[in-house]
Amino acid sequence: MILALFGPPGSGKGTQAKALIQALGIPQLSTGDMLREAIKSGSELGKKAKEIMDLGRLVPDQVMIGMIQNRIQAPDCQKGFMLDGFPRTVAQAEALDAMLAGSGLKLDSVVSFEVNRKELVARLSGRLVCSNCGASYHEQSKLPRKQGICDLCGGVVAKRADDKPEVVENRLDTFLASTKPVAEYYQSKGRLKVIQAEGTESQVFERILKAIGGAPKG
Ligand code: AMP
Repeated sequence: MILALFGPPGSGKGTQAKALIQALGIPQLSTGDMLREAIKSGSELGKKAKEIMDLGRLVPDQVMIGMIQNRIQAPDCQKGFMLDGFPRTVAQAEALDAMLAGSGLKLDSVVSFEVNRKELVARLSGRLVCSNCGASYHEQSKLPRKQGICDLCGGVVAKRADDKPEVVENRLDTFLASTKPVAEYYQSKGRLKVIQAEGTESQVFERILKAIGGAPKG
């Protein structure tokens, strides 16, 4: 199964992806995580990406397309994969369709997460993230048991640099301007599955499974 999770920053894609990879047995390909890894490694790509990410803008399409093209050739993607944070522009969506078609494959579903803007700002501005495993916490509603330490892996839990209020607003504007047309692209191809992404994590998870026709048996 080839799946893409689509939605504004803070809509819960990363959290749901963690639960879905268990249920579906396919890897999560998060372009945001890949870029954060590049930043940690101190590579040239990481340095350039950091400047763009700190402003809440998008990394150029050619960079992102190349990154995904390499990643989906890895052996763990043979049985399918779940994209998280890609595609974010119509050019990326078209390039993805072309690269999959070249291998006789196609994106099965694009799950679009709907959350209102006020809720997104509240979620992002209080968000805390484990720098090791990516688990998400929140200053008001979901603190880790030990301050600053991830419940799941013991990694350091902190605010993401791009979750500052002014950057959050830019990221949401970028989503509306460049990324929303991606939903129209998939809608016109009949592959968009819109789900209401407010509510508890398990409610949203059930809605996603229903939208994609359930987890494969066996
Ligand atoms: P995320 O973790 O998905 O919220 O991504 C964090 C940041 O990484 C975004 O605000 C962008 O600057 C950059 N980024 C991640 N994925 C993409 C993509 N597919 N295209 C362009 N920029 C991206």
